[in-house]
Amino acid sequence: MPNHTFPTQRLGVLLVVSGPSGSGKTTLCRQLADVGEVVYSVSCTTRAPRPGEVHGRDYFFLSEQEFQDHIRRDEFFEHARVHGNLYGTLKTYVKQNLERGADVVMDIDIQGASIVRACDDELVQRCLTDVFILPPSVEALKERLSNRGTEDDEKLSLRLSNALTEIAQWHTYTYALVSGTREHDLDRFRALLVAERLRVVRQQN
Ligand code: 5GP
Repeated sequence: MPNHTFPTQRLGVLLVVSGPSGSGKTTLCRQLADVGEVVYSVSCTTRAPRPGEVHGRDYFFLSEQEFQDHIRRDEFFEHARVHGNLYGTLKTYVKQNLERGADVVMDIDIQGASIVRACDDELVQRCLTDVFILPPSVEALKERLSNRGTEDDEKLSLRLSNALTEIAQWHTYTYALVSGTREHDLDRFRALLVAERLRVVRQQN
């Protein structure tokens, strides 16, 4: 029998976004979240807040003890140690949004991305896609990182060496976006999301 039912609603897209510090990925995710096109998955971290960062908007800034308590209670969807600090996404937040058809962007590192990919939850697998944001060149990345001025020399060199390790993984992602101008990046990022929303696997009737 042919199936003449049309899709009437869809699941949200779970867009995992990775890329080295200084690739511009957080700005991209934030821009779409600020206009309400996606929900930004706010992570927990043990890193100290940078000037201007707000608890609950940028991160949930936790003590090592608080973070370990969440691990013990199995409340993380994924977590990893990145640049010497712990980072993790809480389970509850992500699934509730996907079920109601909201698109969720997760700005997470390559370790977190591989944990999410390996997750055997059917909803997560139907919703998941991923993109790696590459800087235009290694030189540009170095310049962006040091211009940011948010890290001391030791942390900066750790971030740079981690960046090179991360970049080596770009080919394991579904999409790769080499960063150019902010406007062009945003256009391509938005186009990717629009196409992902139309995939048959996301539709429901
Ligand atoms: P930053 O300290 O610059 O905000 O973030 C450092 C790195 O941690 C970035 O690569 C960012 O994508 C990653 N990160 C942020 N939140 C999470 C998270 O919840 N899980 C994982 N695995 N990585 C995260």
